[in-house]
Order: sequence, then structure tokens, then C-alpha cells
Amino acid sequence: PTVLVTGATGFIAQHVVDKLLKRKYRVIGTARSEAKFAPLLENFKGKYPNADLTCAVVPDIAAPDAFDRVLKKHQEIKYVLHTASPFSFGLDKPYEEAYLKPAVNGTLNILHAIKKYAPQVTNVVVTSSFAAVMKANDTTTVFTNESWNPIKWEDVSNEEAAYVASKTYAEQAARKFYEEEKPNFKLATVNPPYVLGPQLFDSSVTKVLNSSNEALNGVAHVDPSETSPQKQICMLSVDVRDVAEAHVWPLEVPELANEREFIVAGPLIGQRVLNILNDNFPELKGKIAKGDYDSAEKLEKECCPKYDVSGTVNKAHNYKFIPLEKSVVDVYKQYLSKYN
Ligand code: NDP
Repeated sequence: PTVLVTGATGFIAQHVVDKLLKRKYRVIGTARSEAKFAPLLENFKGKYPNADLTCAVVPDIAAPDAFDRVLKKHQEIKYVLHTASPFSFGLDKPYEEAYLKPAVNGTLNILHAIKKYAPQVTNVVVTSSFAAVMKANDTTTVFTNESWNPIKWEDVSNEEAAYVASKTYAEQAARKFYEEEKPNFKLATVNPPYVLGPQLFDSSVTKVLNSSNEALNGVAHVDPSETSPQKQICMLSVDVRDVAEAHVWPLEVPELANEREFIVAGPLIGQRVLNILNDNFPELKGKIAKGDYDSAEKLEKECCPKYDVSGTVNKAHNYKFIPLEKSVVDVYKQYLSKYN
């Protein structure tokens, strides 16, 4: 079957495309331009010489009718995975243009286009986020796949909050569309926290990594003489290879076709990242902070959000998530082989 993956050049989407090609799906990936897609195509052709991977150009997901052409043209598309959404910071635009509109309009554009032009599509998966689940600074509530972030756009005062609100509003818009429009397809969302893990292809490694992995660099760059680097981050994380799996589950596991897939590997805190780096990379000794090695567990309990993902995991045959240590080691091995 043929799968349309939006934002195919993204960090997570590349891993999603990888899982799909490995399982012999045909994939049409959207990218802003052919030129942006070309290196990816070459990498995938190298990895899977018989892969059926093509590009559909969608320069801006927020533009009216952005997806109409591709969905009209490719009546063979059976599944749609919508991953594209802005996730970089320091954009030189008002927050609404930079985050809210592309997130919300991009999502509604594709859902409307499927309903209008592609009634043969049976399953849609939208990449949402823990951003749509959590509540800022709440370390006591046990978040589940039924939790919703109460954030209001009017209260947004920085970029991170603008991103968080954009993801919350986009998922709300998708669910409202689903209830009101009653389309032919099933709708699942994937709601991961910080997504860590290696770039699918070494050639995608850049000095400044993608937004979520760059948080690891943030910890590694804390001055070694810093006396309390321990509390950096205070979040949850999951490995990108598991996030990619979760995008394929709704196509293959009927119980997950309509789910809100909240997935978490475990807590993410600066001290734990420092411990993993200090334990695994002797070459970093002295260059990175040490903090207080033994405080990691206590800090995780104190400052990371609480969660229960059994709702998703039980339906996914008790899936075991890749532990943080492997995610961090794999990111840093790849990173240090290019920038040491
Ligand atoms: P990336 O920035 O690597 O990928 C985002 C993709 O979306 C890129 O291909 C980007 O293209 C595309 N895109 C963004 N805005 C537009 C637009 N207006 N028009 C066309 N294409 C656009 O980030 P991730 O892979 O990390 O994120 C993928 C998805 O996962 C997003 O929906 C994100 O919100 C979600 N997510 C990510 C988490 C994480 O920790 N990484 C956590 C939870 C959710 P281009 O590069 O050309 O702009």
C-alpha cells in the first residue's frame, strides 16, 4: 500500500519513512522542494535499492489548499502520516505566523483535502506531542492519553510556549474536525515528549542538532565548573525509532487505529544525561560537567512530569521502549564522529 508522509525531510519523518520502506510500503514524501528531497532520496536508494519512494512538493503546508494537488493526483494513497509542523526556534516571524498557523492550518488542510479528494484513505496519523498532554510546571498530575494541556494562545509569551500551544491547538483542531466531519478514515495521533536518538543518516548530522537532540548538547555544554547543572531539562523523553514505530502501529494494529498514542520511555533530566555521557565517553571527561552523580534518581522524581502510558502500551503488545541511555549514546557516538 502507498503511504503519504508529510514533512518527509524532518528528523522524525526520516525514521518513519525508513520503517515504512523496510516493511515494503510505497512512500510518497512531501518536501518544500525537489532539491530538499534529493539528498534524502539518494540516501534511501542507497539503503533500499528497490524502494518505491517519490517526492511531492508542498512548499508551505499552511497555504490554502496546500495538499489538494497531491491527493487529487495520487488516488493510490491509502494511508496518510502528517508529521510536518514547525519545530525550530529563533524564527524571525510573529509567533502566530511561525507556529500557530502552520501547525493548525497545515493539519486542517490535509484533513479537508483527504475528505474531499481521497475517500479511499482508510487511516490518518497526525504527529501531535506531549505538548498537547502536559501542563507547564506540573510535577504531580499523572498525565495519561486523556490529559489535555489547558494552555491558551492569549497567554503565550515566549517561543517555547508558542510551540507548545501550536501543537495543542493543532491536535484539538484535528479531533474537532473528526467529530464534526465524520470522515471515512480512522484518526490516530502520536504524542511523544522530547524525541531523542540518532539522525537516520550520518549526513544529516549538523553542529547544531535538531531542536530536541540539541537539548543534549545544551547539557554537554554546561561549564564543567558549574556547581549545579543537575536540573537542566526536567522533562520526559522517547527514542525516535520508537516514535517511528508508533506512526506505523495505527496502520497495522486495529486497536491503535483511533488512538491517542501517548508514549514515553522515561524521565529526562540533565544529571542523568551527564552521567550517561561521563560513563560512556571517556574522551569527554573534564570537558563536560559532572554535577552530583548520585542525585539523578531523586531529581527525576522531584522535577519530571509523572505519566502513565499503559493505555497505549497495552494495546501495542506491551511494547518495550528504547532506554534513554541508548538514545543518548547513539546520538553522541554519531555526533562525536563528526564534531569532536
Ligand atoms: P523537524 O524540524 O526535523 O521536522 C519538521 C518537518 O516539518 C520538516 O520537514 C519541515 O520542513 C516541515 N515543515 C515545518 N513547517 C512547514 C511548513 N510551513 N511547510 C512545509 N513544511 C514544513 O522536527 P521533528 O522531526 O522533530 O518534528 C516532526 C513532528 O514531530 C512535528 O510535528 C513536531 O511538532 C513533532 N514532535 C517532535 C518532538 C521532538 O522532540 N522532536 C516531540 C513531539 C512532537 P523544513 O525543514 O523544510 O522547514
